[in-house]
Amino acid sequence: MNCIFCRIARNEIKSDKVYEDNDLICIKDINPQAPVHILIIPKKHVEKLYEVEDLILLGKMLKIACQIAEKEGIKESGFRIVINTNRNAGQSVEHVHVHLLGGRIMMWPPG
Ligand code: AMP
Ligand code: ZN
Repeated sequence: MNCIFCRIARNEIKSDKVYEDNDLICIKDINPQAPVHILIIPKKHVEKLYEVEDLILLGKMLKIACQIAEKEGIKESGFRIVINTNRNAGQSVEHVHVHLLGGRIMMWPPG
């Protein structure tokens, strides 16, 4: 696939990697919306959350997000997990990914 996250996963585009294994790559967001803003990206190209069939992988994305939150020092203070899906939510990259955000107070309801 030629999508930007597939290309990042293949190291064709540079990124600021914080974690990688056979299934996932985790990178710093290029346009951070919080002091900590990391993307948890499965290496396999699936566009939408509702198209993910591998539930173990889905769980692993959340588990790794928590581990990164701990490593980044935002576990205790708090963090937010976001998966934007489709137009109204503002999904801009058509390759499913989890946002991990923290390091500041978050608003609720979200904008
Ligand atoms: P979303 O809008 O939920 O689809 O999230 C896509 C995210 O990917 C945005 O927060 C972008 O800032 C981020 N992004 C886009 N291109 C890159 C890139 N090359 N490296 C890191 N983050 C990126
Ligand atoms: Zn992709």
